[in-house]
Formats: sequence, structure tokens, C-alpha cells
Amino acid sequence: MEEKIKDIWVFGDLRNRKLFELYINVLGRAKKFAGSACGRVTAVLIGSSNTRLKFDSHRQTHLQLEAAADESISRGADYVHIIDDSRLALPRADSFASVLADAVIRQGPMLVLFALTDFGRELAARTAKMTNSGLIAQCMDLKMEKGRVVAKCPSSSSGVMAEIIFSEESRTGFVTMQPAVSQTPEAQGNPGHIDWIKVDRLDILEGPKLLSSSPLRETKRPLEEADTVVVGGGGLHNAENFSMIRELAETLGGEIGATRPPVLQRWVEEERLVGQTGKTIRPKLLFSVGTSGAIQYTSGIKDSKVIVAINRDKDSPVFNIADLGIVADAKTFLPLLINRVKQTMTYRKGEH
Ligand SMILES: Cc1cc2nc3c(=O)[nH]c(=O)nc-3n(C[C@H](O)[C@H](O)[C@H](O)COP(=O)(O)OP(=O)(O)OC[C@H]3O[C@@H](n4cnc5c(N)ncnc54)[C@H](O)[C@@H]3O)c2cc1C
Repeated sequence: MEEKIKDIWVFGDLRNRKLFELYINVLGRAKKFAGSACGRVTAVLIGSSNTRLKFDSHRQTHLQLEAAADESISRGADYVHIIDDSRLALPRADSFASVLADAVIRQGPMLVLFALTDFGRELAARTAKMTNSGLIAQCMDLKMEKGRVVAKCPSSSSGVMAEIIFSEESRTGFVTMQPAVSQTPEAQGNPGHIDWIKVDRLDILEGPKLLSSSPLRETKRPLEEADTVVVGGGGLHNAENFSMIRELAETLGGEIGATRPPVLQRWVEEERLVGQTGKTIRPKLLFSVGTSGAIQYTSGIKDSKVIVAINRDKDSPVFNIADLGIVADAKTFLPLLINRVKQTMTYRKGEH
């Protein structure tokens, strides 16, 4: 009996160039995996070809469907499914999940991959639920073993890598992937094939309505260029405590950074992630608060000029890379530090 071709779908994020590149990264990972799984890669692009949008925070225009389809093919996609409808002009996880779930139910791909972004995470979770499929989150790599997909994913604590499989009865598996780990593929001159998928049914939640949209406030400077950065870690425990990181950064005239837990918990935007999968920074002064000093984080800060680490555990590895180590509970120490910095700043202003 002829073996069924394994279809690997990759969701294409068209919101801006930066996010599109993350998707292209995942496409590259899918292409490599497809080679070992005897599969083919299909890009899935959702939007409206009639609507021209300009709404992203990076001062770049929303990518147009046809141009994105051509680029997907030139970067390795064997097929592109375009789901085009004027009601899909605005990227919303509820409407996108509705049409994506429909297509998944009709065509039954083996895998659907998403770059690990806020939107990718939400869309993957919604669509997996609507199609009654399994979802593997934060995958670093995929391989085939004994005819089954095995996903390699880090656990939330450092140093442990888990291998996860879908259940036997699973028809389609959903995966969110770390995009920065894979290499962006070179253009390949692939012949490719584009399908336009008609939308029969579209379920949009009645509740949420877009009233207005405007670009995110530009940060004063990119994180990589800031002289002072205050990084908050998992030791802050909640969003409320994390707001003290914002206050300290603001008081010092610096920028906020974060380790992975605050980003995963959504206390802070993912563009603030520092480390191996985030940004590499070299500020003159860096505060690292409630961070354990995992290598994946410290690789992104090791060239900072002065590192001040605050941790309640005197044996924390973060002290190995700190110029100044403070053993203290962040919750009680940060308000004191913020007050002191404010006083010093006021005093300095008074001097001039
Ligand atoms: C391939 C790969 C890539 C990764 N890439 C990154 C990356 O780019 N960036 C990144 O950050 N992580 C990355 N990680 C995750 C990384 O391994 C760690 O899990 C992460 O850095 C841990 O963050 P943390 O130290 O803030 O949190 P935790 O590990 O939870 O540590 C919290 C620390 O805070 C201290 N603490 C607790 N409560 C308090 C308190 N009240 N006051 C003061 N201190 C307190 C604890 O003693 C502990 O040391 C990656 C992992 C893998 C496998």
C-alpha cells in the first residue's frame, strides 16, 4: 500500500516583517523535518487580499497575501494554502482559528506548526481545541522515531529537555516552535503551488470589537542600545511584583529586560526576553533581579560592564557572574532601592 504523504503545515504570520521572518524560520525547521519524515511543507496564509492594512508597531506594512505566498515558496514551501476573506483582514485569534480549524478538519495534516509568539500560542491553542487535537508547546526540535513525531521541549526549569509524543489516536498534532533556534533557510527556487481556499463558515466572537488601533509606543531606545537595563526573573513571582522592575528601570532612565518565566507568564512583552533565544545586551549597568543565572540567560548579558544581582538564595549561580551580589528578598528590597534611587536622582537634580 502506498504510504500517505505527511503534510506539515506552517502558519504564516503576516503582521509585519519581523514576525514573518520568525515564521520563515519555522518553515525552515519544517522543511528539514519533512526531509526526514518523507513529508511536504505547506504554508498556511490567512488574511484579506482586498484590504491594505498598516497597523504594526515596527513601522512596516502588513504583508500582502500573494507576495507572502511567493516568498514562502521561494523559501522552501512545497504548497501554500491561502485563506482569503475580507472578514479576515484583521488578525484575530478567534476568526483565524475558525477557518484554520475548518481546513484542518477537511484535510487532516499530520502537523500544524506555529512560531512561538503571543499570537501563535493563542491561535494554536484555540485551533487545537476546536479540532480536538493535541498541542505540544515550546518545541525546540522535531524528529521521526519509529513512525511517530517526537518533539524536544525544554522544561520550565533549566537543564531538563523533555521528549514528547502525541497520543496514538491523534490525527493532527499542533506544535508551537521556538523560532530563533532554527536557521532561516536560503531561497531555493522551489516550483511550489498555491491554492486559494474558500471560506464557507466563519465564527467570530460577538463580544470583542476593534474600536481603534495605533502603533505601540516606541521605546526610547532598543534594549540592545540602553546604557542601563533592569532584568526581572521568575523570582518576582507575579505581575504586580514585576511592576517594581518597571519602576526601577524608569527611575534609572533605563530599559526593562526579562528572563523566560516573566515572558511566558505574560508579565512583560516577549521582545524583552534576554538570552540565548532573546536579545544579547551589553549595558554599562545591569540589574538582574530574581534570576537564577541559567546559562541560556547569562549568555545574553555576560558582556555587560557592571552586573548587580539580587537573589534571596546566597548560593545562586547568578552571583558567579555578578560584580555586586545582594542577598535579599526582591519584594522587600526593591521598594527600598527604588526609594533610594529616587532620592539620589532628586538630590542630583538639586545640585545643578
Ligand atoms: C534552549 C533553551 C533556550 C533558552 N533560552 C532562554 C533565554 O533566552 N532567556 C532566558 O531567560 N531563559 C532561557 N531559557 C530558560 C532558562 O534555562 C531558565 O529556565 C530561565 O532563564 C530561568 O529564569 P529565571 O532564572 O528568571 O527563573 P527561575 O529559574 O525560576 O529562578 C528564579 C530565581 O529567583 C530567586 N528568587 C525566588 N524568589 C525570590 C525573591 N522573592 N527574591 C529574590 N530572589 C528570588 C530564586 O532563588 C532563583 O534563583 C532557555 C532554555 C532552553 C532549554
